[in-house]
Amino acid sequence: MINLTFARVTLLAAVAAMTGCDQPVSQDDDILTVYSGRKEHLVKPLFERFTADTGIEVRYITDGEGPILARLKAEGEQSPADVLITVDAGNLWHAAEENLLQPIESNVLEMNVPEHLQDPNNLWFGLSQRARVMVYNTERTSPQELTTYEALADEQWHGRLCLRTAKKVYNQSLVATLIEAHGYEDTKKIVEGWVRNLAADPFSNDTQAMQAVAAGACDVTLVNTYYFGRLENESPELPLAIFYPNQGEGERGIHVNVSGAGILKYAPKPELALQFIEWLSQDEAQYMFAELNQEFPVNPNVPASDQVRAWGDFVADDVNLRVAGQRQAEAIRLMDEAGYQ
Ligand code: FE
Repeated sequence: MINLTFARVTLLAAVAAMTGCDQPVSQDDDILTVYSGRKEHLVKPLFERFTADTGIEVRYITDGEGPILARLKAEGEQSPADVLITVDAGNLWHAAEENLLQPIESNVLEMNVPEHLQDPNNLWFGLSQRARVMVYNTERTSPQELTTYEALADEQWHGRLCLRTAKKVYNQSLVATLIEAHGYEDTKKIVEGWVRNLAADPFSNDTQAMQAVAAGACDVTLVNTYYFGRLENESPELPLAIFYPNQGEGERGIHVNVSGAGILKYAPKPELALQFIEWLSQDEAQYMFAELNQEFPVNPNVPASDQVRAWGDFVADDVNLRVAGQRQAEAIRLMDEAGYQ
């Protein structure tokens, strides 16, 4: 909390200096400004490495999704921000919808970031992948019982399911992809089944949901892989394991989402912004970006960390992540109608 506040204060001072008329323009030439919805400890080491590699200084703030978008809208053309980094395609889509981003023409990014992990209009590019997977209690459940997201609606899971709240964008994005695959009515039946099977009220975060599974309050939950990675590091003794759903013949694969970046529409330094995002898509930065949070690189030539690779290979749903944004409102309505809170 202290760090976050400090970062904000530093930036506010920096912004004041940058917009002051007595500031010689040349002093600002090598300064890039980033607004990040990704937490400070996950981005700061990358900013430092970028500065070491290029001599370009990075000024930044980190904050929640809502406050950052509100701030960008309030700042308008006067915004000092060049780059937006944020998590979840649903949030990236919002920034694009709010007309805050500009299209990026880059052969480097087209080469390094798979098509389905970038905006079709090149307004944003994914930079790390997280999968939303099942985590189950290894003492109470066998992986043979587990199959698909859809099957968690079956009677067999009655009183055995824990979920994070429907208010979190991760679940909204997952349900958006289910709507894309099955249509609204069939997805609603699936989500109603999940709600019927809940062993406890939805949790406010993924870690609490996994702790409930570990404690035996329920047998299985849905979480982003990096939360499992963190808990695995902190409490390796817990009887928990990852299961990759929807891997059978003809299945769509698991829901993957991204954290990613775009160049802001009124970026004062669009060339530096492009240089930075391209740098993030290349080998060393990709490994680091993913490894800092136990995620998967988007660049297919870059391996995940040893910890992440130990979780095994999977087939991922290759639906374009724009769906997470386009169907977000429907997903929220559907979950509400299904009684998922
Ligand atoms: Fe998260």
